[in-house]
Amino acid sequence: MRTIFPFSIRDLEELNGSIDETLSAEERDLSNYKIAYLPGAYSLGIGLTSRCNLNCPFCYYRERGHNTVSMLPIARLRDILTGLGQLRLISFSLEGEALLYPGLKDALDLASEHAEILQITTNGQLLDDGMADLLCGTPKLRSLILSIDSADPGAYAAMRRGGKLSTLERNIRNFQKRNTHIFTELYAIVTDRNIDTLHTLPEFAASLGIKLISFGKLREHGWSREHQIHGVTDRQMTDEMLRVIAEAQKEQVQVKLAPYFADRTVVEELREKTDPSYGLFIPPDRNFCDMPWSFTAILSDGRLFPCCGDFSPAEIEECSFDGIFNHKYLLLLRKLIKHRAVPEGCLECRNCRVSRSS
Ligand code: SF4
Ligand code: SF4
Repeated sequence: MRTIFPFSIRDLEELNGSIDETLSAEERDLSNYKIAYLPGAYSLGIGLTSRCNLNCPFCYYRERGHNTVSMLPIARLRDILTGLGQLRLISFSLEGEALLYPGLKDALDLASEHAEILQITTNGQLLDDGMADLLCGTPKLRSLILSIDSADPGAYAAMRRGGKLSTLERNIRNFQKRNTHIFTELYAIVTDRNIDTLHTLPEFAASLGIKLISFGKLREHGWSREHQIHGVTDRQMTDEMLRVIAEAQKEQVQVKLAPYFADRTVVEELREKTDPSYGLFIPPDRNFCDMPWSFTAILSDGRLFPCCGDFSPAEIEECSFDGIFNHKYLLLLRKLIKHRAVPEGCLECRNCRVSRSS
């Protein structure tokens, strides 16, 4: 479990105070940054548990000396979802391993009542027949994201410590045989440990009938630095991704770059050098991060984790749409981003290229 976050709501409040004198009374008023409840318009990330069966040395939610495990009580989940009304997407994708959550069926049933689509991110080690039955029996679960990082056994073992590539491969193969309504994709975090092996992923994906691989960039923090896991240079990223794309085109597998994937120069070189007939999915350029307008998250200790930044979680005073989606944290983020006062926590964020581009 992670307890140290470099930024907090207080940092946002300080920055907010410093820009107020440049704003009109209307622009200053935080209540003007509220969003209205619209059924089926917003997305929520949920950490069901901080427990995990693996011990990845780059895990964003791990920290030395803090081994406390938290589980989101199902009653708390019910209160939160009831207060939020109807959402577009609920994603069980934060913190620990969702498949380890003891009340997963109840959580999926509850989420199904409150969202159009459900998504789970998993390391796939526990995706046995019983788990596959449960997931396939959840009609609203449409997306299963399988974290893998490398199809090379050595690089996989270094990244997914405690996991076995052969187990993941067997579980995915069995799952795919079910021919379900659930779309599967592989997800890889690019670091200096796996960069040279990424090009093996398309063939691996194709052999399992998986049609999409998404790539995200490492967000360095204390735990990853302690384990000597770092990001890669733009040159390394570009060269290996060109190999990945060439392999993916051969295997008829789609490659998707996360919004926070890389600097714009890297993305532009990839775009220029990729065969235009191949559908490389690159997120559209936006001139600011719009995440606080459409998404927020709850961690397994029941606190609000405003977005994917390095901001410390905050207590939720009221389980309602206003109490969560119009929490002061989100109002401050919206106001600061809207007025181009990009918080330091955003500059560290993997979405930073978006925020800095203004
Ligand atoms: S599988 Fe995910 S949650 Fe678990 S240790 Fe690895 S990165 Fe962290
Ligand atoms: S850029 Fe800022 S607002 Fe956007 S996701 Fe990152 S931390 Fe959140």
